[in-house]
Amino acid sequence: MSMIHSTATQLLQELQASRLSSVEITSAYLDQIERHDPRVGAFLRFDRDAALQQARAIDERRAKGQPLGKLAGLPVAVKDLLTSTGELTTCASKILANFRSPYDSTVVAKLKAADAVLIGRTNMDEFAMGGSTENSAFQKTHNPWDLTRTPGGSSGGAAACVAASMTPLSIGTDTGGSIRQPAAMCGVTGLKPTYGRVSRFGLVAFASSLDQAGPLAWTADDAALLLEVIAGHDPRDATSVDAPVPAYSQSVRQPLAGLSLGLVREHFAAGLEPDVEQAVREAVKVYESLGATVKEISLPHSKYGVAVYYLVAPCEASSNLARYDGVHYGHRTDEAAMHAELNAKRKQLVAAGKHAEADKLESPLVELYRRSRAEGFGPEVKRRIMLGTYALSAGYYDAYYLKALKVRRLIRDDFDRAFQEVDFVIGPVSTSPAFKLGDKVDDPLAMYLMDIYTVSANLAGIAGISIPCGFSRGLPIGLQLQAKPFDEERLLRAAAMYQTATDWHTKRPTMGK
Ligand code: GLN
Repeated sequence: MSMIHSTATQLLQELQASRLSSVEITSAYLDQIERHDPRVGAFLRFDRDAALQQARAIDERRAKGQPLGKLAGLPVAVKDLLTSTGELTTCASKILANFRSPYDSTVVAKLKAADAVLIGRTNMDEFAMGGSTENSAFQKTHNPWDLTRTPGGSSGGAAACVAASMTPLSIGTDTGGSIRQPAAMCGVTGLKPTYGRVSRFGLVAFASSLDQAGPLAWTADDAALLLEVIAGHDPRDATSVDAPVPAYSQSVRQPLAGLSLGLVREHFAAGLEPDVEQAVREAVKVYESLGATVKEISLPHSKYGVAVYYLVAPCEASSNLARYDGVHYGHRTDEAAMHAELNAKRKQLVAAGKHAEADKLESPLVELYRRSRAEGFGPEVKRRIMLGTYALSAGYYDAYYLKALKVRRLIRDDFDRAFQEVDFVIGPVSTSPAFKLGDKVDDPLAMYLMDIYTVSANLAGIAGISIPCGFSRGLPIGLQLQAKPFDEERLLRAAAMYQTATDWHTKRPTMGK
């Protein structure tokens, strides 16, 4: 098996036994990026020299017998909204096109401490708002299984770079499905941890009560390895939970006995493509053959998930994104041009004797905010800011935001009840496999409705994983398992059990071969 076809776990063994060097591995992946990324567009940035320099330093330390971190020498790609000292963190937005972070996010700091090779920064929907990566201000990302299709989103670059074997591991973020859905569409494994499991310090906020960073990889074993490194309490994120981090990578291969799975009645309604339903039902049979019991359960409020999510997330976004004002950092409008224009307008009005109108002209400061934001944000981000501002405004707050919070609680209660009956909830990730690029860009509602199976986990704060479970006309399909809060250890074991019995996760697109 060639290097780029190995799993991260296998590569780590080769590194530890000094049969392969980090320079060899990193070069192989860089070659793959240089060969295929011009057509895939997964990376916003990568730097061959910088990556090889990190690899060389790790090889040298290994040669000297120095202690090394858990990922020593393994390449990891990072979604471009986790800060890294001195590097650009653009969130795929024009407003942050030139923003260099003065500090490391905790996830990046942990990757560095684990001696990972940070190989590059991946493309995404602007500020993680979207499900196809088409909202990136900079480039499109193409699905390695079919370049005319989307890789999913918002972590589309993070999923595509693993699928095309450009890196063994990558980090995405998931606010309403952005790790699981692109993992499903690209045929890789992606885990959204429990809210509070991974620190959000330095994760540029979209919706703070929903955002979580997590791993994308080929296998559950590899996801376990990466989660083990990035998880844990962080005093700089008050919402990160002070609970011990299990050694996920040690336990992941232990099968679970007496597993009980809940198949959600409401999941198999109109809108779900028959091939996806078929693949999910086949996967359920695989679990049954492994000794699992399956029962039908109900999550009665899940039908409100999309409506609740598209109130809560935009409300939080409208508040979080208020910080991009063109003054503190990020894009600023051309001030000289703005002043010249405003002065000319004022003069014109005064000359025409329209003093009242001249007085009503916006102050230069407000105009600076307005122009900087109008120029810096893309259409989807503006849509969310407007939705959120509207729903939070006086008179609408109770009817929309407050109501949404109440239903959010009911969704969480549904899961609490379900997890008294079963260990995991099993079902689809997305209503369909990857769709064509351009197909839904003009129909935001159609795009939002695709998130029906993923948003509830974020609203409830629970963990969820997507694992490959079949194909429809050559396009991968994802299976979702959801677990109660902080049950990632068993969730990963359940995913690994399935991957021991099936080989969907070993299938690679032609360019990944
Ligand atoms: N597709 C969802 C949205 O557009 C989820 C995004 C995410 O998880 N970051 O908001």
